[in-house]
Amino acid sequence: MRCKACIIPISICLAGSVPNVLAQQGGAVAATSLPGPDDPIKAMVDRLDLEKYKATIKGLTQFGDRRQGTERNRKAIDWIEAQLKSHGCTNAERIKYEYNPAPPTARDGGGGARGASPFGPSGARIRGYRIPEGVNNDPNKQPDLELRELNMEPSTPGLREEVYCTKIGTTHPEEMYIVGGHMDGIGWGEAANDDASGTALVMEVARVFSSPDVETDRSIRFILWNNEEAGLAGARAYVDQRRDLQGKENPPRSGKYPEPKWLGMIQHDMMLFDHGMPRADGTMSREQRPEADVNIEFQMNSKMSAQSQALAWAFEQANEKYATDYPAAVGNHMTNTDSTPFMDAVASISLRENERGAQIGAGWDPQHHQPTDVYTTYYDKDFRLGLNAAQTTLAAIAQLTGARLKK
Ligand SMILES: [Zn+2]
Repeated sequence: MRCKACIIPISICLAGSVPNVLAQQGGAVAATSLPGPDDPIKAMVDRLDLEKYKATIKGLTQFGDRRQGTERNRKAIDWIEAQLKSHGCTNAERIKYEYNPAPPTARDGGGGARGASPFGPSGARIRGYRIPEGVNNDPNKQPDLELRELNMEPSTPGLREEVYCTKIGTTHPEEMYIVGGHMDGIGWGEAANDDASGTALVMEVARVFSSPDVETDRSIRFILWNNEEAGLAGARAYVDQRRDLQGKENPPRSGKYPEPKWLGMIQHDMMLFDHGMPRADGTMSREQRPEADVNIEFQMNSKMSAQSQALAWAFEQANEKYATDYPAAVGNHMTNTDSTPFMDAVASISLRENERGAQIGAGWDPQHHQPTDVYTTYYDKDFRLGLNAAQTTLAAIAQLTGARLKK
């Protein structure tokens, strides 16, 4: 209840067991200083690398759009698990669940453009020029015949899996932050931005935290959700299966916590493309706009709204201190992503290239769920925005979990 009054940046909301990085500043928002030469978090952030990030995105696109319920999706999960293990995150496990949907919905079976409502998803008000937003479900719109063929197998109902691995905290293994992105896609492209960009971000952050010389007080779970594009089914299955296991030592007195208590859930979904608003004639700038930013969103209509907002500002401050090129902005309309099933249980935020409701909802990302969402669509300035989001998450999670470098 103590968080109820928090409307603006917040030093008092990361209460209880959550390390309070903001309270160190005495309540007011202090000026951010740049990291000093011996700052261990800067040393960890410096281990992120544009070429490595791009290579991981490229690696994911070899499996086409990775649509859930297909062989290419299952192969991608195996590949992700092997990558995590090779980075030192060796305790990879899988969530298993059944996905047996009703006959295709508009979203999964070929939707059209949204209407002209002034409000986008989650009630975010849309302003300015907009272009239609929808899901391509026509294979013939993919001009690359090899890619079209790769994406041809349709989704079939049944067993689904999703993979995660965990950095175990040294002093509080029983508590964790969840860092996620969804590995499945749709639209007959390579789902390079939506969401190989978020998946690769999680994998690269996992690589840095899994280095043998990095130690954290609290645990961090890296998870690559499946089925996001089919109703967040993978994240929902995780919440259903594991919420009641939180913080329980199992076996008793083993020091092992199969499901550490959730301290926060951070989702990464569409990290690359911030070229601004469509022009009046419906065209878009070819270049990343210089004002591009990382959009950190929480959901104001959730039970954990105050705690989520506090977490969002902790990320914004980490961005200000540690991200090299692009700033972050906080918004209150988090929606349409895997943090949604968590938002009434734990502080939950999403990081994106644009606001999901007001901006992506108005067509600011014309590749969204389209055949054009392929690796070659993007330039280094696009990839660099994703890298800056990775720097933001790595720095924030390092602060929140008490990360340090062993001498
Ligand atoms: Zn997505």
